Amino acid sequence: MSDISSPAASPWSELPATERMPVLFVGHGSPMNAIEDNRWRQSWQALGSELLARPQPPRLILCISAHWLTPGWQLTAMDKPRTIHDFGGFPQALFDQQYPAPGSPQAARFISQSVLQPGSNEPLALNEADWGLDHGAWSILKPMFPAADIPVIQLSMDYSRPAAEHFAIGQQLAGLRERSVLIVGSGNTVHNLRTMRRDAPDNQAYDWAIEFDRVTAEHISQKRLPSLCDFQQLGVVAQMAHPTWEHYLPLLYAAGAVQADDVPRFFNEGFQGASISMRSVVWS
Ligand code: ZN
Repeated sequence: MSDISSPAASPWSELPATERMPVLFVGHGSPMNAIEDNRWRQSWQALGSELLARPQPPRLILCISAHWLTPGWQLTAMDKPRTIHDFGGFPQALFDQQYPAPGSPQAARFISQSVLQPGSNEPLALNEADWGLDHGAWSILKPMFPAADIPVIQLSMDYSRPAAEHFAIGQQLAGLRERSVLIVGSGNTVHNLRTMRRDAPDNQAYDWAIEFDRVTAEHISQKRLPSLCDFQQLGVVAQMAHPTWEHYLPLLYAAGAVQADDVPRFFNEGFQGASISMRSVVWS
């Protein structure tokens, strides 16, 4: 593990350390939450206002989204990341959304040199052209920070790698919080699209969804964060909650960046469509 608080050959790293930034895991749910005036989005708006009111607001956002999977790990490193509409079957109003936040190639280079990929021990790779901001990032960041004036970098996930490696990368990112970087994992603690029932109220869910969400919340509130990596031990409950687990993995990055004296606060508890948990958490 490298120490990212030590000076590196980049002016970006020479900034004085600041009060530790909170770290977030946000359940994003349906892409429509980006534009619907519902309670999920209202919470994102309130949280964004709270973070902007800090003596030192975030100066960079590092987002780990469920929707960017790559072989190895990559960081976006372009000046102007494009808004990616990576979904289908939604109204034109959603495709019309843009989130023109700048990138920060300089910060991306600094972060890439500060984090070693588990297994290969290579620095994080830089993605200068292909990607941008997918809806896992912009659908929550636009309500939180509508001015789009804070640079955003995305970090991809290598889905083929074990849970503990995702957590370990989160641990390597922790020092960025002392540099006013807001780390945001964007996924869902329960995510099964096949079983969704769109008419279900937000306080109703399948038993397996409630159980998986409850166990996850308990690990968080009891500060047993490494135990989050063992989610597959829940067997059938885990298989139903995450037929594939790309929406769970961003939680491991956020949890890895948590320090011993951070306290978790849940928000947006409840479900979309009975099988998507919107539970979100801010550690500070
Ligand atoms: Zn998603």
